[in-house]
Amino acid sequence: MKSFAVAICAPSGTGKTTVARALVQGGTGLLFSVSATTRPARAGEQPGVDYHFVGRDEFEAMIERGELLEWAEVHGELYGTPRANLERAERQGELLILDIDVQGAQQVVTARPDTVTIFLLPPSLGALLERLRNRESEDEVRLRQRLETAQRELERLDAFEYVVVNDRLEETVARVSSIIVAERQRRERQAEPLAALRRRLQEDLERERR
Ligand code: 5GP
Repeated sequence: MKSFAVAICAPSGTGKTTVARALVQGGTGLLFSVSATTRPARAGEQPGVDYHFVGRDEFEAMIERGELLEWAEVHGELYGTPRANLERAERQGELLILDIDVQGAQQVVTARPDTVTIFLLPPSLGALLERLRNRESEDEVRLRQRLETAQRELERLDAFEYVVVNDRLEETVARVSSIIVAERQRRERQAEPLAALRRRLQEDLERERR
C-alpha cells in the first residue's frame, strides 16, 4: 500500500491532539508527525516528542532550506511540518498522522492530493470552553484569540472530506480508525500489490478453466 498522510484539524480545545495520540498508540502502521514550533513548551511537553521547539531564526532557516512540507502562523507563533516526517513514514510504509491547523492542511493537500482530511467538532461551545479553561496556560486574552480562530476555522469545514464530532474519546478514535481502515482499501492506494495479485488470479483462472 502506498503511504499517505491523514490531516486532523479542529478548533483549539476540541481534543484533537488527544485523539491523534490515542490513534497512533492504538493503531499499527501510524506515525505521529512531530511539528516544529516557535511557541514555548507547556508544562509536561517534551522536546522531540510533542514538538521540536525552535527559535524564530531557526524556524525561518528551515523555511529557507525548504525543509517544511507546510507551515503557518497560528496565534502569533509559527508551526510547521518537517518534510522528513513524511519521508520517514514513506520509508517505513506507515501513514503519517498530522495534527495541524486548517491553513496547514490545505497546503498539505496541495502538495499531496492523496491526503485524507478529517475535521473534528466539539459537541458544543460549552465543551470547548471547558477544555480551554482547564489548560493552565490559557489566560483570558489567549482564550479570546482561540475562540476567534475557532470561528474562522469553522468556516472552512466544507473543504474537509470527513467530519467527526468528538463527544466521547473512545468513540471518536474508533470512528477515525474506521476512516483510516477504509482509506487504506482504496484501489488506487493498492495499485502495485493489486496488479500482481490480479495477474496471478487471472493466470490461475485461465489454467483452471483449461
Ligand atoms: P498548540 O499550540 O495548541 O499545540 O497548537 C495550536 C495549533 O497549531 C493547533 O491547531 C495545532 O493543530 C496547530 N499545529 C500544530 N502543529 C502544526 C504544524 O506543523 N503545522 C500547522 N499548520 N499547524 C500546526
